[in-house]
Amino acid sequence: MFFFDVHTHKRSSSKNIFSIENKYPNATDFTKPFSIGIHPWFIKPENVEKELLIIEKKLKEDNCFAIGECGLDKITETDFELQKEVFKKQVELSEKYQKPLIIHCVKAYQELIEIKKELKPKQVWILHGFNKNYQVAESLLKNGIILSFGTAIIKNKKLQEVVSKVAISSILLETDNDLNIDVKEVYQKISEIKKITVEELQQKIKQNFKSIFKK
Ligand SMILES: [Zn+2]
Repeated sequence: MFFFDVHTHKRSSSKNIFSIENKYPNATDFTKPFSIGIHPWFIKPENVEKELLIIEKKLKEDNCFAIGECGLDKITETDFELQKEVFKKQVELSEKYQKPLIIHCVKAYQELIEIKKELKPKQVWILHGFNKNYQVAESLLKNGIILSFGTAIIKNKKLQEVVSKVAISSILLETDNDLNIDVKEVYQKISEIKKITVEELQQKIKQNFKSIFKK
């Protein structure tokens, strides 16, 4: 059975890992399952229009599983209003092409939830690399946002406590840009926290994956 890694910046050589590779609009290799989006760190006003067209074209491809990562980041220098605008355009594309959204969010959870309430999207929103407290987790979950946990779970005790309280039906797993840790180690840790076998966890994450990505 596959180990699903829903957000990674590397290519896995392992046959039983199924990854969604993160791509930016300037990428050239789209041979493996991917997501594509404009990351808030890399928004260049003069490129947005062109990049949205590239994304729209790529969203029609079979290998495209999601739009993203895209989102909101209060720490980066990119103008926040511009971030919101570019994010909303990507939400529109997610709805038009019926593909889930993979979200990067730093210190802007409330704004993210407000946009979700305003736009009322039908597609699934996945908050990638979740590493905040249970209160934040709860408000995202209450608003129907799926949480994707990454390699931070292996050592972060507070995050382990958060995961212990979140229903497995609301989570996905990933490695993001951690080049040294395999998603199997993330599965291992979560299965320990949830007191189930790795195989049982694989079964449940597979169900989540299939229902979210419709693949
Ligand atoms: Zn990433």
